[in-house]
Amino acid sequence: MKEFKGAYMGKILRVDLTKKASRTEDLKGEDLKLLLGGRGLGAKIYYDEIGPDVDPFDERNKVIFMTGPLTGVRLPSTTKFQLATKSPETGRYLCSNCGGDFGPQLKRAGYDGLIVEGSSDDWTSIIIKDGDVSFIDASSWKGFNSDITLQRLKDSIGDARAGCMSIGPAAERLVRISFINVDNRAFGRGGAGGVLGAKRLKGIAVKGSGRVPVADPERVNQIWKEAVKDLRTSRANHTKYGTPQYIEAINEFGCMPTRNFQTTFFERIEGVDAHTMKKRYYVKNFHCFNCPVGCGMVCEVKEGPFAGARARTEYETVALLGPNCGVDDFGAIVAGNQLCDEMGIDTMSGGNLVGLTMELFERGLITKEHTDGIEAKFGSGEAMVGLLRLIAERRGIGDLLAEGARGVMKKHPEWAPYIMAVKGLPYAAYDPRGFYGNALTYGTSSRGACHNVGGWTIRAELQSGDYDRWALEGKGKLVKQIQDNRAYVDSLGICTVVRGSMDFRDHPASDVMEAVTGYGFTPDLMNIGTRIYNLERLILSREGVKRKDDQLPPRTVNEKVPSGPSKGKFLTREMYNLMLDEYYEERGWDSDGVPKEETVKRLKLHTLLS
Ligand code: SF4
Repeated sequence: MKEFKGAYMGKILRVDLTKKASRTEDLKGEDLKLLLGGRGLGAKIYYDEIGPDVDPFDERNKVIFMTGPLTGVRLPSTTKFQLATKSPETGRYLCSNCGGDFGPQLKRAGYDGLIVEGSSDDWTSIIIKDGDVSFIDASSWKGFNSDITLQRLKDSIGDARAGCMSIGPAAERLVRISFINVDNRAFGRGGAGGVLGAKRLKGIAVKGSGRVPVADPERVNQIWKEAVKDLRTSRANHTKYGTPQYIEAINEFGCMPTRNFQTTFFERIEGVDAHTMKKRYYVKNFHCFNCPVGCGMVCEVKEGPFAGARARTEYETVALLGPNCGVDDFGAIVAGNQLCDEMGIDTMSGGNLVGLTMELFERGLITKEHTDGIEAKFGSGEAMVGLLRLIAERRGIGDLLAEGARGVMKKHPEWAPYIMAVKGLPYAAYDPRGFYGNALTYGTSSRGACHNVGGWTIRAELQSGDYDRWALEGKGKLVKQIQDNRAYVDSLGICTVVRGSMDFRDHPASDVMEAVTGYGFTPDLMNIGTRIYNLERLILSREGVKRKDDQLPPRTVNEKVPSGPSKGKFLTREMYNLMLDEYYEERGWDSDGVPKEETVKRLKLHTLLS
């Protein structure tokens, strides 16, 4: 580790819930040079320790939390840390990225990562105060919502500035779309909350009194000032409207998931767009640790049936609880969002499953008997909120939906035409028939149909003017590039929203990494991203993923868009496979989507893996 003069604390904390014991392990400098930390190192530990035969709820499953070299450093939005585990929702490798205070506090306590293994006989919580690790009895916390649990954790550690993570009642019931609440941010997708639920771990609190060292404090301070100045203008819209700023634009492009992705344009968008949010519901901005942008929009409902509801709304939540359920009442979305946060379920998978249920109901494939009396029609805010509650409480059809899209598909393969998921993870809030690169994003993301890990092509395909959004050629290369960039940014420990301010682009040229670590990472960052993405694909290959698993659901490749600006557009399976061939070629994978031996060697992955 002597090659690094800052950034890393040099240790990982390993906590065994079965033995109620903990120990520390040293980080290896060679691993960091090749994988940076965060998502990269999390994937390596997963590869080494979680085999393909381990069930997500098995006590042999582990939850790996890894910070990056920039986590906790005094630079903008150095809030992020990463999770790796076997996903209850997909049954495969899951990587997830989250903000909050937890990651920075973990580093201040002296650790770059935390691995939770084993399982407790009784409900417990972990308290980490610098080098001191203890377990508290959390049996009386069972049933507490995730917000109340966060407060209990802060009380237990005795410091309001502690970083805390918790699960809600849904995870206690092993709902497979459960999230982990981290300081009111979330490890949202993939159901990682359920893994903690299976381990009977209600929460973790951490507080450190140390500092994250940097190689060149003066230069780091200068970079901080320059980046903050840049963000005031470059991210002004994020500060003003948050991610809901995209609602109107995505609808106008004809890419908005509407009524379970039956069409791509929502005709009553003004009820849920960012202007309505700002005018009638906005209360204040929410900032993650060290973030000058504050893109979180805290909203409150002041009147009507959902009066009193309060939640922090994001684009994906608004689109999937709103237009995807035919709902044009922003108040209902806030209420659904709050319910998901408190019960501890992912709004994105939740919105997809509610949309699916509404379509099944309208087609007469299920009735009020299944929905606990709810008239589950598109457009009803009450029905949307009611169905979310059924999932979180596993009541009626909610018990089946709580098994996630994969579980629903297993039980009802005849519903496949209406289930919008890849590898068991439901779609994010964009319809790929409106921009074809997004189809590859969903098909080849390391964790299922994800817009973040899979590569957010909106800027390139819809905004830059550099690409024909309905072209096939060139999309394989584009998606690979965005995925690799995201893989290294996720491993740094910063938020993707601010990466441009520190020049973490496809051709990074700044000296941030050198100023922080004292090591010349910068020219190699994209290669590191490529290496991480291939490592994840090796894990998925070991878990049985092949070309057939990279395919999209029937609706996307069988049905023409029936209305709106993308009316008449379609994507066939053949068209999609042409893009997939180009993508595999760019990646150096064989025609079945497995990394070739020469690719593994070129990326030095053979030296890393046992
Ligand atoms: S830009 Fe938004 S998500 Fe990113 S760190 Fe800031 S508040 Fe958090």
